[in-house]
Amino acid sequence: YVKAHGSNHYQFHEPGMTAAAAERLHLENDLREALLRGEFELYYQPVLDTERLTVCGAEALLRWHHPEAGLIPPDRFIPLAEETGLIRPIGTWVLREACAQAARWRRLGLTGMTVSVNVSGEQFWRDELPQAVRQALEAQALAPDALVLEITESVLMHGSANTETRLRELKAMGVGLSLDDFGTGYSSLSYLKRFPIDTLKIDKSFVRDMVRDEHDRTLAQTVIAMGHGLGLQVVAEGVESAEHLPLLRRARCDRVQGYHFSRPLPARALSRWIQQHQCSRSPQD
Ligand code: C2E
Ligand code: MG
Ligand code: MG
Ligand code: MG
Repeated sequence: YVKAHGSNHYQFHEPGMTAAAAERLHLENDLREALLRGEFELYYQPVLDTERLTVCGAEALLRWHHPEAGLIPPDRFIPLAEETGLIRPIGTWVLREACAQAARWRRLGLTGMTVSVNVSGEQFWRDELPQAVRQALEAQALAPDALVLEITESVLMHGSANTETRLRELKAMGVGLSLDDFGTGYSSLSYLKRFPIDTLKIDKSFVRDMVRDEHDRTLAQTVIAMGHGLGLQVVAEGVESAEHLPLLRRARCDRVQGYHFSRPLPARALSRWIQQHQCSRSPQD
């Protein structure tokens, strides 16, 4: 978006400043205030048991309600938040908000429900992360195993020796650890074996096309078998059609997530979706 801004935004453009740079500056200024103005919202996408299709948890996905541009997806502002360091206060807010929602679901009787939160590299390497996680759990008196932290493969493969220490510190708190976007980075299998992670999430780029592309199908099946070989639970993200299910069941994938079941939804809409889903689901589904 390149729109006029309110009077509290400074409007100067350096001579020679490109439109893209000007837009970025605006977005950055807006991002600084978004937290204070309450413009962020967490959407939640259900994660289901592959066999029984019961809801096991939900992934929290951040949305920004920009006053002029409307709903902005995370790919458009998370990179900027990382570059500017704003991801730290935003990430802390996400942790608190997701834990509050998990506590609400548990009070509604969804006792086994977990909530997954994406943690970027910029947060993962900060000393304050364990403390922020602990505080978010304590504020809700939430059992640590209700929270899963999703960390991408590329983040884990950067930090070498420190990675293991940091993961153990988080694991010792009792939270779940999940390796996100698996298959898009360069994991060394020996690392995977050493890291105290619980879950592999197969990247949606392999899952999406596995129905019609034999190559992707083989890759997905191999990743599932490998994950199980390492004692990990495996989640397939990007499940977009009913045809995925028999394939993923045959490969014994533990959990499924994708548009076929539900898009990410505001918290209350997801609560309603879960109720309807549980009523309408036939036992042999
Ligand atoms: P991710 O963690 O891999 O999340 C999955 C993304 O795939 C989400 O996009 C989700 O809406 C989308 N998705 C789910 N099912 C399907 C499907 O069946 N088909 C397709 N094509 N896509 C599907 P979203 O919400 O736009 O988020 C994009 C990325 O932004 C996330 O990828 C994550 O890396 C990042 N992100 C989101 N929320 C946060 C956050 O609170 N903190 C941080 N640090 N990163 C976040
Ligand atoms: Mg994720
Ligand atoms: Mg992912
Ligand atoms: Mg991603």
